[in-house]
This record gives sequence, structure tokens and C-alpha cells, in this order.
Amino acid sequence: MDQAKAHKKVDYLIIGQGLVGTWLSYYALKAGKTCMVVNDSHTAAASQVASGVINPVTGRRIVQTWMIDTFLPFALKAYTDLGAQLNANIVKEASVVLIHPSLQMQESFEYRYEHENVYLQKNNASDFEACMYTPFGTGQINQTIWIDLNLMITGWRQQLINNTQYIDAKFDIADLQITNEGVSWNEIQANQILFCDGIASMENPYFKMLPFAPNKGEALIVEIKDLPNQAIYKNNMTIVPWKDQLFWVGSNYEWEFKDANPSMDFRNKMETALRQLLKIPFNVVDHIAGIRPANQERRPFVGLHPSYPAIGICNGMGTKGCSLAPYFAHQLIAHCEQGSPIHPEASLERFEQILKK
Ligand SMILES: Cc1cc2nc3c(=O)[nH]c(=O)nc-3n(C[C@H](O)[C@H](O)[C@H](O)COP(=O)(O)OP(=O)(O)OC[C@H]3O[C@@H](n4cnc5c(N)ncnc54)[C@H](O)[C@@H]3O)c2cc1C
Repeated sequence: MDQAKAHKKVDYLIIGQGLVGTWLSYYALKAGKTCMVVNDSHTAAASQVASGVINPVTGRRIVQTWMIDTFLPFALKAYTDLGAQLNANIVKEASVVLIHPSLQMQESFEYRYEHENVYLQKNNASDFEACMYTPFGTGQINQTIWIDLNLMITGWRQQLINNTQYIDAKFDIADLQITNEGVSWNEIQANQILFCDGIASMENPYFKMLPFAPNKGEALIVEIKDLPNQAIYKNNMTIVPWKDQLFWVGSNYEWEFKDANPSMDFRNKMETALRQLLKIPFNVVDHIAGIRPANQERRPFVGLHPSYPAIGICNGMGTKGCSLAPYFAHQLIAHCEQGSPIHPEASLERFEQILKK
């Protein structure tokens, strides 16, 4: 903290270091700028519990996700470059094995495979029958990528700490002052402050009027000793390789919730679903939960405040932070540095009227 205080003047003050704060600080530094990241490591982060999957095809109708042909190659390069900088293998390309949970899902897969197939492939259900029940057959999604988010975020944090670019503290907006040169907070002066503090932005007086719609999700960490850990498996749940023979098993999407804690209801449902799917033994070793900074439009909030251009936000990543965060963090830094446009569906400009009130 004392060393960090020596950095009195920076280009960017970045609030939060989940996925988005990691990428904003990465691109700010890559642009040759200075930054200070303020993150409260004791506040829960969605990025801590996410499985880290970028799946190009999702949902009951097995359709391609928004702009995935743009986001996927961008993300693959970005995560690979960041991993190289950390000297860590944070990104794996894996396929998703679909264990169709119903006749309807089997038919959806067949339809997409015949009509709009880019990422889909047929496979042999018999390859999975030693481990799983496959009454409705199987399919496969290719070009999925899986990111070791914990390794990435803690590795990047350590690099920021080594370079005195990180302060572990709870940011309080009451301590923020807008100045002629930008903003000041405690000992730090910055040209710009960028908020990427997940659901905490819902309380931020500059951005609380944005249509946030937080969404709770849970996962079990399960030991499944006999399950091959080279693929991701998807049924009514997703099973993602975590570490060695541990798998991340989730999730749910709760729009109404009392708290952010793991619930017995979720655990019971997942254990029942696992027993219905797996022929092999499993053992639950942990249960985690988090709140996704989702929003009603399912499009991110990216840009500078229309009345206070020293204050910006990159948020609202919802269920797709892994694919959206690198792309839009890059756009926001480029916007601040060169004035280049932000994608209109993500730009804060669409909320100009309500933010100016
Ligand atoms: C169960 C679950 C599974 C998921 N799986 C996937 C997946 O497979 N793929 C995918 O793309 N997305 C997934 N997501 C969504 C993904 O986690 C989010 O989109 C993403 O993590 C959002 O990142 P963020 O940086 O905006 O927010 P966060 O990760 O919440 O980070 C916000 C940061 O701000 C800090 N902070 C908050 N308040 C303050 C304060 N006052 N002062 C200082 N710091 C503060 C927090 O400590 C945190 O570090 C999943 C989410 C959940 C809950």
C-alpha cells in the first residue's frame, strides 16, 4: 500500500479486478498508459466461481451466440497472449460433448446440424456409454475454449502487485472527487476512473440507473475419478474439467434470490441430476455461488458517462464475461485513447438520456 501510494498520478484508476478489471488494466498498460487497480479481494466476485467456458453455441435451440464469430478469435488470441505474459497455460481448446437430455434437444441438434452448422459435429454415443447414460444420443460442439480464470486473475494480480499497480481496498465513492484534470481518490490522481466492480456498480450514483438485472448462479466442485478430463460435458448441466479429476458442475440462473450463498436446494438438484447422468461414482468436495452482473438487454454497458467523461464503466457481462470482457475492455481503452467508437449495441450512448437525468 505504501509503495503503491508513491504512484500519485496515473492515467487510469480501475475499480475492481475480476475478469473485466483484468482486461482493462491489461489493455491500458499495453497502450503504454499507467494505471492503478483498486480491488477489494474480500468482496465476492462472479469471476471467482465461473467455469471459464466460451461456448459458441448455446441454449435449448443450439444457436450461435451474439457476434461469436468476432469474439471467439479475439478472445483466443487475447487469452493466449495474456497467458504467455504470465508464463502460464490459462487457455485450452476443448470440445463440448452434448449428452442430449431429451428427444426435443436431440431434434434441435439434428436440425442445426443440417441447416446452420458451423461448430457442430456428430460423434458416437458408444464412446461415452462406459461413464454416462445416453438414451437420446450425443453430439459435439467444436472450437469451445476453456480458461483457467483463477490462475489468470491471481497471476495478473501478482504482476500488478509486483509493479505497484494494485491496491487491495474497498473503494468508497464518497471519497471520489472530480477535478479539472480528471478525478482524485485518496492519494491518487487519474485522468479517468473506470468502474468494473461487477454488481457493486448497481449502487454507484453515476451508473445505478442502468438496467442491471443481477442473476445468481451456483456450482458444485465434484471429484469424478473415472471421467476423462479432456472434454466439457453438457446435459441439463455442464461438467467442466477443473483440476486433475475435479470437475465444476453447474449451473442455475436465479433472477430472484435472498442472498449470494450456496443453497441446499441447488445441491440436492445437482446431485440428483448427476446420479441420473453418471454410471460412475462421484464425490462433492465444494459448493460455490456468485452473482452475475447481468442486465435486461443482455448487452454490456461500455463507455464514458455523458455528463462526466472522466468516469467510465465496463460492466453488464452477464453469463458471457469470458468472451465479452477482452473485446469490450479493448474497445473502451481504444475509445478513451483514440476516440474510436464502441459497438452501438454495447455503447453507453444508448442510455444517454437516463444517465443525464
Ligand atoms: C456460477 C457462474 C458460472 C459462470 N460461468 C461462466 C462461464 O463459463 N463463461 C462465461 O463467460 N461467464 C460465466 N459466468 C459469468 C461471469 O462470471 C461474469 O460475466 C464475469 O465474471 C463478470 O466479471 P466482472 O469483472 O464484471 O465482475 P466480477 O467478477 O464480479 O468482478 C468485480 C470485482 O470488483 C471487486 N469489487 C466490488 N466492489 C468493490 C469495491 N467497492 N471496491 C473494490 N473492489 C470491489 C470485486 O471484489 C471483484 O473482484 C458465470 C457466472 C457464475 C455466477
